[in-house]
Amino acid sequence: MPPQIVKRRSRGFICVNAHPEGCRRNVERQIAVASEARPGPAAPRNVLVIGASTGYGLASRIAAAWGYDARTLGVFFERPPDGDKTATAGYYNTVALHERAKRDGLFAASINGDAFSDACKRETIAAVRRELAPLDLIIYSLASPKRVHPRTGVAHNSALKPIGQPFSSRTIELDSEKVVGVTLGPATEKEIADTIAVMGGEDWRMWIEAFAAEGLLAPGARTLAYTYIGPEVTWPIYRDGTIGRAKQDLEQTARSLDATLAAKLGGHAWVSVNKAVVTQASAAIPVVPLYLSLLSRVMREKGVEEYPIEQACRLFADFLAEGSAPVTDEAGRIRLDDREMRADVQAGVAALWPQVTTENLRALTNFAQFQRDFRNLFGFEVKGVDYDEPVETDLSLD
Ligand code: NAD
Repeated sequence: MPPQIVKRRSRGFICVNAHPEGCRRNVERQIAVASEARPGPAAPRNVLVIGASTGYGLASRIAAAWGYDARTLGVFFERPPDGDKTATAGYYNTVALHERAKRDGLFAASINGDAFSDACKRETIAAVRRELAPLDLIIYSLASPKRVHPRTGVAHNSALKPIGQPFSSRTIELDSEKVVGVTLGPATEKEIADTIAVMGGEDWRMWIEAFAAEGLLAPGARTLAYTYIGPEVTWPIYRDGTIGRAKQDLEQTARSLDATLAAKLGGHAWVSVNKAVVTQASAAIPVVPLYLSLLSRVMREKGVEEYPIEQACRLFADFLAEGSAPVTDEAGRIRLDDREMRADVQAGVAALWPQVTTENLRALTNFAQFQRDFRNLFGFEVKGVDYDEPVETDLSLD
């Protein structure tokens, strides 16, 4: 394919293409943050990130590699370029990450496949044995709408719904930019079970047990998965809804994996509660775009706004670096949402929340930033990129 001009194409709010140069700059910006943060003594050396191409997984990988010189293996599910169709953003992010790693003398390899499948696990185990054994950190950062169960072959689709009763609230209708009321009916038992099957802890456990069985975990090996709690306005749809049930299951899995790893290897398993950020996964949750637009305004005003890379750098510096003894909350969780959940930040959001209307959306909230952050995820509206210049889209991962 000759280089082509790539303009943002959307279906509703979602971008259906991605810009390789915009994605490259996003990755470079994150690498710059991680390199600058570069704090003291080395932490994990051999790091596997499952869900490594966008959002929290990508940021975690960059923090490990550029903050601590870790060798990283990333697993993700992304669409490669096909003729004049661009690849997905996560694919271009990883092309850029590989290029920079090569230049900086860092080992980085990736596997593009369905992490829920046995085939992908086998391929990853072989790669770890070849290049990365023993693993001392495994970060599980998948966000997926569906999972085909590797034992039963059943396809589970997750649902984002309240449990027990309908939930009415306000949200931003993203393509029309209207603030509208939404009512979501309660999930069925099947929808709850399906969501737990997709976003709960079973697959994480399968990964860790597979590595343990193969003897690929280092003494003291640690594993982390990410969750969200957030403020009460989001609880009916998040914490107390179907996704919250799945996250409870993830926390339960962390406790039992923690016991096993501690007994076998002196290791640990934790859930880390991260800040709400704009990612492809979070923008799809009703109510969340309005909350994020307000949160962005309030956290910026207070000078405490963070993106996944700042969160990941704090995770490593404060919780994972050698010698740091992680301080966890009463439920044994790592908390990176401390700034989001500060009383003054939440009071600021709560005061504005009922006042927002379609007419004052842009004045009262930082919807403009939310929209820009969202388009940035796909490499669009990135500072310094000339979108009238043709770019090579047919890039290869190695
Ligand atoms: P994201 O959509 O940016 O990233 C998801 C990743 O999973 C991508 O790398 C994608 O390729 C990969 N993936 C999806 N399906 C896959 C499959 N079948 N096989 C292999 N890879 C697959 O999502 P995110 O928001 O960074 O979420 C990651 C984790 O962080 C989730 O557990 C989420 O609940 C948690 N979290 C997110 C937020 C937030 O506000 N975004 C806040 C706290 C916690």
